[in-house]
Amino acid sequence: MPASFKTEAVVLRSIRFGEADRVLHLYSADRGRIGAVAKGVRRIRSRMGGRLEPLARVRLVLHQGRGDLCTVTSVDTVHAHAALREHRASLEHAAAACEAVLRLFDSAEPNRAAYNLLCHQLALLDSEPGGAGRAQSLAFRSKLALAAGFAPELASCAACGEADHLTGFSPVAGGVVCASCEAGSFALDAETHKFMVKALAHPLSEAPQAPDRALAQADRALGETLEHHAHVRLRRVG
Ligand SMILES: [Zn+2]
Repeated sequence: MPASFKTEAVVLRSIRFGEADRVLHLYSADRGRIGAVAKGVRRIRSRMGGRLEPLARVRLVLHQGRGDLCTVTSVDTVHAHAALREHRASLEHAAAACEAVLRLFDSAEPNRAAYNLLCHQLALLDSEPGGAGRAQSLAFRSKLALAAGFAPELASCAACGEADHLTGFSPVAGGVVCASCEAGSFALDAETHKFMVKALAHPLSEAPQAPDRALAQADRALGETLEHHAHVRLRRVG
């Protein structure tokens, strides 16, 4: 039954389609992933077009037709994130955040935690363009993995449950491992372990800092866990 509905969403990706249209990949607050066509938005005088840029947070009216794609009937800007677009590093962090949501959340099942987290990360990048760095992006990715159900085990050995001598990280076991279970793991510094625990415990705006070596280890630990368990390969956080 064709019907119209309202929703709020972030534009994750926008692809040219036909003469003047775009196909949008949206992540919505209450309907998860939505694919939609925005008709005529590549015409010079389209007001809708400017509002539907990737990274924009928008309020939409969508028409659900018979096909897989909805049609955008109206759009209002909630947050354009114009400031972050002026800084290359911020833009890259924002694009990486959208890419991670695109890869990890592809169903119509809503995930409010993931939606709120994405909105929060984009707003933070926009409020401090050029300021937020790799540590915040890794904290975002940790929290997103948690929202997706793929957070690494950090409290005790993921293989045997031992709480002490946690010296390695095993992507296959899905978390930190003790000295006797270290087969297939790589070395994890105490600092990295601390960073990963804190990143999950603190709000994104208070993401902990850590030395580059620890951030690189955390990036690898998260990345390989997602590859193994979610079958999703994300670009490393630069
Ligand atoms: Zn163990």
